[in-house]
Amino acid sequence: MDRMLESIAARRRDLAELTRDLVRFPTVNPPGDAYGPCAAFIGERLKKSGFAVEYVRGEGEPGDTDRYPRINVVARREGTSPGSCVHFNSHIDVVEPGEGWTMDPFEGVIRDGRVYGRGACDMKGGLAASIIAVETFIEAYPDHPGAIEISGTVDEESGGFGGVAYLAAKGYFSHPRVDHVIIPEPLNKDRVCLGHRGVWWAEIETKGEIAHGSMPFLGDCAIRHMGALLAAFEEKLFPALDRRQTRMPVVPEGARRSTMNINSVRGGQADDFTGLPSPNVPDSCKLTIDRRFLLEEAIADVKGEVVGILDDLKAQRPNFDYEIRDIMEVMPLMTEKDAPVASAVAHGIRQIFDREPDYVISPGTYDQKHIARLGHLYDCVAYGPGVLDLAHRPDEWVGIEDMVQSAQVMALALEKLLYAGS
Ligand SMILES: [Zn+2]
Repeated sequence: MDRMLESIAARRRDLAELTRDLVRFPTVNPPGDAYGPCAAFIGERLKKSGFAVEYVRGEGEPGDTDRYPRINVVARREGTSPGSCVHFNSHIDVVEPGEGWTMDPFEGVIRDGRVYGRGACDMKGGLAASIIAVETFIEAYPDHPGAIEISGTVDEESGGFGGVAYLAAKGYFSHPRVDHVIIPEPLNKDRVCLGHRGVWWAEIETKGEIAHGSMPFLGDCAIRHMGALLAAFEEKLFPALDRRQTRMPVVPEGARRSTMNINSVRGGQADDFTGLPSPNVPDSCKLTIDRRFLLEEAIADVKGEVVGILDDLKAQRPNFDYEIRDIMEVMPLMTEKDAPVASAVAHGIRQIFDREPDYVISPGTYDQKHIARLGHLYDCVAYGPGVLDLAHRPDEWVGIEDMVQSAQVMALALEKLLYAGS
């Protein structure tokens, strides 16, 4: 076993160069560039370790065109005897580089023990670490039981519909094909991420009546009605959400409760008009909310709380009328600490760092939601190298030593999961 860890440490350079090579594919999403070549690169590499490789296009999913096909790679290596299947899932898409870089974001500069580039941290470094972990594990245990899978999936940054959601709907993330999933998102090399809070996005529209702006009393201003709703949120909803604590270990700690963001308010004349506005009383105002909720809250109550405030206004405020429309909902998820995959990763962290892991919950969601929702597979955690704060920023980087240690943890977790009970 020590030899396996030593071989991973000895492959430090290979790991850094693999990360660099992955960064060199500019898999920017949107629009979803270079997915095919990046997927093929991963597939070709894994074939050398005895993986059967499949390319699955997220046909007809958002953004899928012949110019920008949503191409996922799924690689599977069968063991020599029956057993469970451990799957490492990484997204290959990255966000646009944006401004402020001091180097080419797609060169994959290796310097001072780091690999720099868009996606180095989120999450090509994690993908590279999982590939090195698996390759080294296979050298140590060529006759392992069960199966090992590695996937490189698309579109996580835009909701994952052409990626993990598409695959999960087709059975790629379900029993009996897969038993345990590790997602190497950048959540620090000594932390196990057990899940995420829930999400409810909705659009609320207040209604009014159009009239000439010089005689607003002849119409009914939808924006004033929206103002009344915002005041009610300030008075009733936000204080209530602040008080709602959770047993979920969300980081950062400020997110260890219910929150709501108001994403946008749109009403009256469009703000891209040229010249002077015309004098109108607006007859519609729309607001988008992003409510993040907890395991302790039922989605029906989360929605009911907002609808209750709207109905109170309707009862009290003359001419107040509204419509509400769901945009998206995701249930909160938390894999228990004693679940097989969480304990296996924790075991690896104890071995490598000689300390107890931290268990965390992500404030936002990632592809685990689709694995639970569509694959009905709950033995899943996120674990990988890199600091989440660096994701999506200029001069993004991942530490090479962090990747080496994470790869060691992943290899130990793999060993534990495949050899447990045998
Ligand atoms: Zn990510």
